[in-house]
Amino acid sequence: MSKQILVTGGAGFIGSHLCENLLQQEHEVICVDNFFTGKKRNIAHLMDNPYFEVLRHDINVPIPLEVDEIYNLACPASPIHYQFDPVQTTKTSVMGAINMLDLANRTDAKILQASTSEVYGDPQVHPQPETYRGNVNTIGPRACYDEGKRCAETLFFDYKRQYDLDIKLIRIFNTYGPNMHPQDGRVVSNFIIQALEGIDITIYGNGEQTRSFCYVDDLVEGMICMMNSSDDFTGPVNLGNPNEYRILDLANKIVELTGSDSKLVYKALPEDDPIMRNPEIDLAKKELSWQPRVSLEEGLKKTISYFENLLKSDENARY
Ligand code: NAD
Ligand code: UDP
Repeated sequence: MSKQILVTGGAGFIGSHLCENLLQQEHEVICVDNFFTGKKRNIAHLMDNPYFEVLRHDINVPIPLEVDEIYNLACPASPIHYQFDPVQTTKTSVMGAINMLDLANRTDAKILQASTSEVYGDPQVHPQPETYRGNVNTIGPRACYDEGKRCAETLFFDYKRQYDLDIKLIRIFNTYGPNMHPQDGRVVSNFIIQALEGIDITIYGNGEQTRSFCYVDDLVEGMICMMNSSDDFTGPVNLGNPNEYRILDLANKIVELTGSDSKLVYKALPEDDPIMRNPEIDLAKKELSWQPRVSLEEGLKKTISYFENLLKSDENARY
């Protein structure tokens, strides 16, 4: 049955893929975005669809809509962008979440929160299961995002306990793919652009730190499985790819796939940069029958091709 679905942050990287997928399933989609990091080009191909609607709006302000489901993704996700205006990041995570929870409560909608592996901070348990409570520096430069997202998790569970709201909570691990913002400083987009432009590839620290990279199509499939999961399953559930790589290995792989002659250079490691990150996904496998299918090589090839076209088609697209 077709539903009226709100996607906040729908013009961003993950949100744009989610909107596209939901429209393919013949739902009506309302994309709400303040375009801080979102781009019109990410959703331009959806604009002719009569079941798609875009509203420029900041979720820190309540919005009167009637919806059946809400995917709450609005929030800058890359360290450069969430640290640009840290107070706004915390406001979006907390006040924005309250506004969306109130909307869900009034309209009796189901609401899914895009939380993050950052709630585990610089983890001392590896890989990270959902039961791990994390190691977050509450006063560091990443705290605006980490603590904002942790508070949002608290709010979701309090709305469930207090108002019996139908909530779903996912913790997303590093995701990559087409529609990433070329300037958001995340490792996959940085390395691909540097490799394509033949400039130095910037390894922060010694490159021994690890991350586990999930292709966006896999993630979006997991998000939708979670929204459609049985009512008594709230999460939190980790969604990510459990194959773990050193940042150095990622750089070498991208150099190989692009055939670039870029050199690796070493820069200072940012403060509070987690040393390792890898999702334990047993819960997602059991409850959602979900696991990632796209290999790193396959996903990187698609992402490289996206950035190649973007850089060719419009020199301003970089910004
Ligand atoms: P993104 O920056 O591309 O998308 C975020 C979108 O939210 C943008 O379109 C931005 O303009 C919009 N936005 C920001 N603040 C807003 C506000 N106050 N009101 C309305 N819109 C606002 O980031 P993304 O990678 O697509 O991330 C989407 C969600 O997934 C975020 O909540 C992020 O925390 C979460 N997440 C992403 C990753 C990842 O690896 N990409 C990992 C963990 C969690
Ligand atoms: N990183 C890097 N060079 C870059 C960008 C990032 O070495 O040009 C490192 C960064 O220090 C971190 C990892 O890659 O250890 C992932 O960084 P990203 O910003 O993509 O995500 P997050 O730190 O939030 O996992």
